[in-house]
Amino acid sequence: MDHREEKIRIIGAGFSGLTLAYYLKKANPSLSITIHDEAENVGGLLQSIQTPYGLVETAANAILDSDEIRALAMDVQVEMIEASKGIKKAYFLNRGRLRTWPLKLSETFLLLPKALRFLFNRNSFAPQDFESVEEWGSRNLGVPFTQKLLDAALAGIYASRVQDLSARLIFSRFFRVHPKSLFKKRKKKKKLRSIAPVLGMQHLCLRLRDYLQTQKVDFILGKKFELDQKSETEKVIYCGSLGGAQKFFKDFDLVKETYKDFLTLPSLPVSKTTLFFNLESSKKTPHAFGVLFPRIEKRPFLGVLLDTKIFKRKDKFYSESWISNEDFADLKSAQSMILNERQYLFNSKEEPLLGHLKSWQKVLPLYGDALNRFLLDRWPQMRRDLAKNEIYVHGNYLGHLGLSRLILESKNMAQSWQVQKK
Ligand SMILES: Cc1cc2nc3c(=O)[nH]c(=O)nc-3n(C[C@H](O)[C@H](O)[C@H](O)COP(=O)(O)OP(=O)(O)OC[C@H]3O[C@@H](n4cnc5c(N)ncnc54)[C@H](O)[C@@H]3O)c2cc1C
Repeated sequence: MDHREEKIRIIGAGFSGLTLAYYLKKANPSLSITIHDEAENVGGLLQSIQTPYGLVETAANAILDSDEIRALAMDVQVEMIEASKGIKKAYFLNRGRLRTWPLKLSETFLLLPKALRFLFNRNSFAPQDFESVEEWGSRNLGVPFTQKLLDAALAGIYASRVQDLSARLIFSRFFRVHPKSLFKKRKKKKKLRSIAPVLGMQHLCLRLRDYLQTQKVDFILGKKFELDQKSETEKVIYCGSLGGAQKFFKDFDLVKETYKDFLTLPSLPVSKTTLFFNLESSKKTPHAFGVLFPRIEKRPFLGVLLDTKIFKRKDKFYSESWISNEDFADLKSAQSMILNERQYLFNSKEEPLLGHLKSWQKVLPLYGDALNRFLLDRWPQMRRDLAKNEIYVHGNYLGHLGLSRLILESKNMAQSWQVQKK
C-alpha cells in the first residue's frame, strides 16, 4: 500500500489518542488520521472546570516534566507552570500525626544494611515474577518501610495498596539496566518535577485538538466507534482505558475465543473530591503538595492533594482534592467524610464554600498479578494477532501509567510505525 494514502482511525481523544496523533503527524505529515470520541469534547479523563472559586481538575492535575511535554506545549502554544519549589512533596500519616519521615530511628537504622546490599548486590532486589509489592518490600526493605511509607507512596500513584500490586510490573524497569552501565559516567539527571498548563489539563488537550486540525486531522466527536465499522483497508488504534478496551473488543472473535482473559482484567473505582475554602484555611494544612495515608492508619481516603500549594495560580481561594477507592454516590456523602478527616488531621472545622465530586466505577487498571501475568505471557502474542487485523492498542494498562509515560509511549509507537514502513 502507498503509505501516503494510509488511513488511520484513532479511537479516543484523551491524552493517549491526541499525543499519538501528534507524533504520527510529526513523523509523517501525509498520513490521513481521524480521531473518534464518544464524548462531545476532547481530553477524556482530563476535564478542567473553571468555578467562581478556582480550577477543578477531574483527574490528573499535573504531568512530570520532560522534554517531550515541553516541546508539545510549545508547539500548541500552551503556557506551563512549575510546581512550587521549596515545599515538602508529601507528608505521611503515622499513628495520627503528620510526618515527612514516618519511620522510627531504630527502623531507619535497619535500612542501612539493606542499602549496602543494594549497592553491592543489586540483583537480589530484582522482583520475582509473581511477587506482590508487599512481599517484595518486606523482603528487601523491611515491613515498617513497606507498610508506613511504600504503601502510602504507591497508593498516591496507582490508587492501590501494596498487597494488591505486582512488584514485577512496578519495579522491573529499574532492574533492566545492564550492570556495566552502572559504572559509566552518567548524564546529570533532571530532578523530577511536576508541571501543568496554567489554564488546566483540558486546555492542553483543546489546544492540541486545534493544532491537529491545522495538520488536517479530522475529529468525529459525540459518536461511539464500534469495531465492526472498521474497513479492511484502514488501521484502527484503540487509545483509552482498560474498561473501554474490554467493551471495544468484547464481541471481536479473536479476543472472545483466544484472549478471553483480557476481558476480565480488573480495574479500580476511584473518586476525586475537590473542596474550596477561604485562603486563610491553608494555614491549618501542612506546607506540602499533599498528605498520604498508609493502609495501616485505616483512613477512608488514599491521600489528599493540597492543590493551591502545588501550583501558585494566584487563586483567591484555597482548594484540596481528596482521593479514594470509594465510588461515592454523591458529593454530600464524600464531603461529610472529608470534613471528619479534616478535623482529625488538621484540627479544622471549616465548612467548604464549594465542592465537586468525580467518581468512577472502573477507571484505572489494577497493576496487580493478573495484569502482570497477562502482559508477561499473553500480550506479546495478542499484540501480534491484533496487528494482523490492522488493529493496535495504546493505553495506561500496558505498563505506562501516568501521563509522562503515555506521552513517551505515543512517541515510541509513532517512531516504530515509521520504521515498519521503511
Ligand atoms: C483521579 C485521577 C487522578 C490522576 N492523576 C494523575 C496525575 O496527577 N498525573 C498523571 O500523570 N496521571 C494521573 N492520572 C492518570 C491519567 O489521568 C490517565 O492515565 C490518562 O488521562 C488516561 O488518558 P487516556 O487517553 O489513555 O484515556 P481516557 O482519558 O480515558 O480517554 C479515552 C477516551 O476514549 C473515548 N472512547 C472510549 N471508547 C470509545 C469508543 N468505542 N468510541 C469512541 N470513543 C471512545 C472515551 O470517551 C475517552 O474520551 C489520574 C487519573 C485519575 C482517575
